[in-house]
Amino acid sequence: MMRQYELVERVKSYDPGADEDALNRAYVFSMKAHGSQLRASGDPYFSHPVEVAGILSGMKLDGASIITGLLHDTVEDTVATLKDVREMFGDEIARLVDGVTKLSQIELQSDKSRQAENFRKLVLAMSEDIRVLLVKLADRLHNMRTLDYVKDEEKRKRIARETMEIYAPLAERIGIRDWKDELEDRAFRELNGDAHASVTKRLDFLRSRGGDLVGQVIAELHRTLAESGLKADVSGREKTPYSIWRKMQKKNIGFEQLSDIMAFRIAVDTVEDCYRALGVIHASYRVVPGRFKDYVSIAKPNGYRSIHTGVIGPQNQRIEIQIRTREMHEVAEYGVAAHWRYKQAGAATTEGKQYRWLRQLLEILEHASEPEEFLEHTKLEMFSDQVFCFSPKGDLYALPQGATPVDFAYAVHSEVGNTCVGAKVNGRIMPLRTQLRNGDQVDIITSKAQTPSPTWESFVATGKARACIRRFVRSQQRSQYVTLGREIVAKTFRQEGYELTEKALKGVLKNFDCGEVDDLYAVVGEGQHTGREVLWAVFPGARKDRQPKVVPLTRARNRLGKDMAVPIRGLIAGMAVHFAGCCHPLPGDRIVGIVVTGKGVTIHTIDCETLEGFAEMPERWLDVSWDVDDETGAMHVGRIHVVVANEPGSLAAISTVIGRDGGNISNLKIIHRSIDFFEILIDVEVTDLKQMTNIMAALRATRVVNSVERARS
Ligand code: MN
Repeated sequence: MMRQYELVERVKSYDPGADEDALNRAYVFSMKAHGSQLRASGDPYFSHPVEVAGILSGMKLDGASIITGLLHDTVEDTVATLKDVREMFGDEIARLVDGVTKLSQIELQSDKSRQAENFRKLVLAMSEDIRVLLVKLADRLHNMRTLDYVKDEEKRKRIARETMEIYAPLAERIGIRDWKDELEDRAFRELNGDAHASVTKRLDFLRSRGGDLVGQVIAELHRTLAESGLKADVSGREKTPYSIWRKMQKKNIGFEQLSDIMAFRIAVDTVEDCYRALGVIHASYRVVPGRFKDYVSIAKPNGYRSIHTGVIGPQNQRIEIQIRTREMHEVAEYGVAAHWRYKQAGAATTEGKQYRWLRQLLEILEHASEPEEFLEHTKLEMFSDQVFCFSPKGDLYALPQGATPVDFAYAVHSEVGNTCVGAKVNGRIMPLRTQLRNGDQVDIITSKAQTPSPTWESFVATGKARACIRRFVRSQQRSQYVTLGREIVAKTFRQEGYELTEKALKGVLKNFDCGEVDDLYAVVGEGQHTGREVLWAVFPGARKDRQPKVVPLTRARNRLGKDMAVPIRGLIAGMAVHFAGCCHPLPGDRIVGIVVTGKGVTIHTIDCETLEGFAEMPERWLDVSWDVDDETGAMHVGRIHVVVANEPGSLAAISTVIGRDGGNISNLKIIHRSIDFFEILIDVEVTDLKQMTNIMAALRATRVVNSVERARS
């Protein structure tokens, strides 16, 4: 185990400005916090954070990273709290330690391979600061080095799988190839010990026969190219056991056929030189058929460019050779991020958004003189537009930023969304409109009796949730129209003394452009056609003279009690007319009249639920319509149901909008109130439906308004 002074000396050697006092305090704090805890290896637990700090110092990381390495397990595994860390080491260290602690907590949740990409994104999104990720990777590297001591095989396998699927690829992405190779190789050994052993054995054998083959091949390739006047860099290395094994798997070949356990790269200045080098290699050595691929003239979709070939090369070895320009080499090594170094036209096209943070990192690396300078405030912005949340089973879902439990429910399954009544976030019941955060565990509570609420549409963030809610609301409306239409048609037939059969209706579906009987009911329910039109279609001989006499402009009293002209056709002269208080019909609405004994006629909108109460009394129904020529300018009261955010100024905003469009609020009643919003019924005096529609559209466009609907009961 590295001694305290050794670690401090090492950090000071490359970072003279490091806070020696803080390093010393962190060493002691960690030692005391871990106390007599032991590792599975039997070593004192404290040796682990010291080793992690050692690995980080090997990367010449700044003092804060080293201190975080020393403290990284104190909050998770000892009685020390984040508050203690903050008091002793300040906000920055506390933030870093907290970040690593949070990452450690998510690793226990699930090991499903198909979610690996989401896990990698979650780790990146939660890291926020590149140093959090670096400490986590160093932590994982040391845990992999001591993995053999873990007795529980299941646990070993899980850690190895996680390393293979999440941490090794992340190390690769941030360009730490050595860590990536070691993580991958150790995980490979745990997950497939037999394969690892046989590949390693074979490599040892080849090595024992050939000596420093890699070095000899490099030298000869270099000489061959130089003789042809090509200025080229040649590099090469033995492939790792894991990459060799993976190639065997992928190509379904045995070790004997596996020729190229060494890979060589030739980097030249220009594209023409790539092809000249290729010519020289092919002229000098025997080509292995089927290995040639030209990704220079046509790049791989991820932007990778290189010429690949295989030859029986120097020392009679089958080798793989990649030829590319130095720029292409950078791209291959550092990903698309390297384009930043070559600000040439066209390069930007392959530059994905997800590489932006990496590019910035490289940029800082390039220009910073001190290690701290580049690490300080290097935020990982990757996936900042997404949140990653777990189901109780540990399944991981990627959702857009701003997503709510309703989005989560629909992401799980549309049925879960449709029956969602509430949600627990991290074990606590939370409102459905709560915005989820990275790593939240979301438990959706469902009830068979629940149906989606149209108000959800105002806060969901995913297209899937929105589409499902809309589809549901539409189908609800349709089923209401079908029910109403069925009653209207049945009533009309009964009233006129004709028999109504499904078969008869099927015969006239085409007349109404309908495919099914329910469609026909729906168009009648919606008011596009009347029950009588259906009757006349089925029985063309039915009498058409039974419509009530049309008497426009009947004098009557309206709801407000004012004497006024009622612009309605279809009434019998002298009848008293009321506008129903349940549905508040407006000129423009489709309406029906119901004869009320002793009161005259009450006008309802055709979709008013009250009408169901008169279903069995066809004699009371009157076909009426608005007088389209009405010029009395009379005001009518319409009632709307508004859901509005519960915040200062909301009501004022609503009344302003209504007034601006010429409406006059005659009554207002709050019917429900929650922390988030309240529901209000507003009576608005308008001249007709058109004006009301304008007002409702204006309200919908108002920020504080969630939804607006005509009140129907
Ligand atoms: Mn640890």
